[in-house]
Amino acid sequence: MTNEEIIKLSALKAGKKIKAGELTSVEITKAYLDKIAADNSKYNCYITVCDDALDQAKEADEGIKSGKYIGPLAGVPIAIKDNICTKGLKTTCASNMLGNFVPPYDATVIKKIKAEGMVILGKTNMDEFAMGSTTETSAFGATYNPWGENRVPGGSSGGSAAAVACDNAPISLGSDTGGSIRQPASFCGVTGLKPTYGTVSRYGLVAFASSLDQIGPIGRDALDLAAVFNLICGLDPKDQSSTETTQVDLEKIANFDVNGLKIGIPEQYFGEGMDKDVKDQVMAAIEALKAKGATVETFPMPIVDYAIPTYYIIACAEACSNLSRYDGIKYGYAPEDVEDLSELYIRSRSEGFGMEVKRRIMLGNFVLSSGYYDAYYNKALQAKALIKDAFDKAFEKYDVVIGPVAPTTALKAGESLSDPLKMYLGDICTVLINIIGIPAISVPCGFDSQGLPVGMQLIGQKYSEETLLGIAAAYQKDTDYHMRRSN
Ligand code: GLN
Repeated sequence: MTNEEIIKLSALKAGKKIKAGELTSVEITKAYLDKIAADNSKYNCYITVCDDALDQAKEADEGIKSGKYIGPLAGVPIAIKDNICTKGLKTTCASNMLGNFVPPYDATVIKKIKAEGMVILGKTNMDEFAMGSTTETSAFGATYNPWGENRVPGGSSGGSAAAVACDNAPISLGSDTGGSIRQPASFCGVTGLKPTYGTVSRYGLVAFASSLDQIGPIGRDALDLAAVFNLICGLDPKDQSSTETTQVDLEKIANFDVNGLKIGIPEQYFGEGMDKDVKDQVMAAIEALKAKGATVETFPMPIVDYAIPTYYIIACAEACSNLSRYDGIKYGYAPEDVEDLSELYIRSRSEGFGMEVKRRIMLGNFVLSSGYYDAYYNKALQAKALIKDAFDKAFEKYDVVIGPVAPTTALKAGESLSDPLKMYLGDICTVLINIIGIPAISVPCGFDSQGLPVGMQLIGQKYSEETLLGIAAAYQKDTDYHMRRSN
């Protein structure tokens, strides 16, 4: 196979070819490293490319031969978002605060990936501390979307999504606190799964908002996501919020029948501010499911109006607390020429954090301060209960709730840096899912009039990954949006 053919293979197909002796992990890894070398100055998907990737691949090939690695993804390369700790490999969170941080341990998901014999290609670019929707707040420069001149890849896992979209990785890991797997997957025309809260260990994921954060895969199709989900999920004593999880059945997913499926569409997901092209494409995808025997009903979900304030209050409150550990002493960047302790604190945080992170820390401290705690933080917790009720009611009637992933396609670079509020509003369709810990998938479902990818979002009740992946797989059998490339 030529390099060009190799880098088009899905992760599972690449794994199969390695097992069948048709390809080696070294050959596949080499093909990706060449492509990364050609692209990284243009798209900037990676902050760090592993210089030992070929050694890892060699070890994988030997392990596969000796029977040490027997899983479906053995020998397959993967890209990792740079907020997931990798032993001996820089983990920066795209921040000057952790610019030189080399973790002395592996996150639980990384341990599992290594135990499978997968090859880590490198660490992908992101919004600083995962705060943002464009991958422009990175201290290491923006990532660009391969689908459009000067377009953002979405965020915060923009590097992980763009890497899959420009064949700089067959599959990647991202993290999703309010949409950071689904929205960049949608902007880049690839598939992304935000799993049920607790199914994937957060141990070793640098915390943004702990009650919302979840690691998940971004890849070429639903089956690849299913395989990676099975690999990384499971109870972990090191993460007290992790839960016992049943793996998904790839056979069932591959043969999922949407006939008889009950689909609910929340009216408010298509409200004001929704791009017409996005609406049309998502509606057409829903029609396609209907043609295969699903029933479709629209229902009101007025709580959507409270999504953004509720999310930003909870996320910022937790973030300001999580990020208080970076002070130049316990953790993080420490300037050298300081006179006293308070100057160290001030300069560590002023110079170490970027604008967006500072904005969130201030917002978080504000909503938690004694005079405002009840008015903001407690109100947000009340809204959270109402959001849960609204979805519980919806899932009494529907197997799946479907809407867009984001109100627009990929924005122009620079647009939202000058208008953060506008950027926050773009999270309207994704944040509710994190607030109540349910799973959702972003599935490519067409293009807008400018040729930019559109994503549809499938939302299910807790632990319904198999159903969501099944619906996505059924849709992807009949469409090729997820396989298209910009070039
Ligand atoms: N865009 C959202 C934010 O800026 C979500 C980020 C995320 O999921 N990490 O907070």
